[in-house]
Amino acid sequence: MHPVECASCGNKVLAEKFSPSHTSVQWLDDAESACPEFARRAALGEPSSWIPTCAALRDSIENAVRKGELATDQLRHEPVPGRLG
Ligand SMILES: [Zn+2]
Repeated sequence: MHPVECASCGNKVLAEKFSPSHTSVQWLDDAESACPEFARRAALGEPSSWIPTCAALRDSIENAVRKGELATDQLRHEPVPGRLG
């Protein structure tokens, strides 16, 4: 696991990339108190277990992947284009 900090809210998580479509994220703090986006979505009734990361944190994780910080053996090529989400 590699520490990644959310560029938006500063929340730190541990992330690990298993494949282009499978990223494991482990929150170190309570998600709803650590991240404003989480808090907002939880307030709308979205179960936090359905929200792996906030959008900014997902970008931060993708950045770390691009810089090779989360590289795995399966990830020696560019991510597939056309990913939704
Ligand atoms: Zn965040």
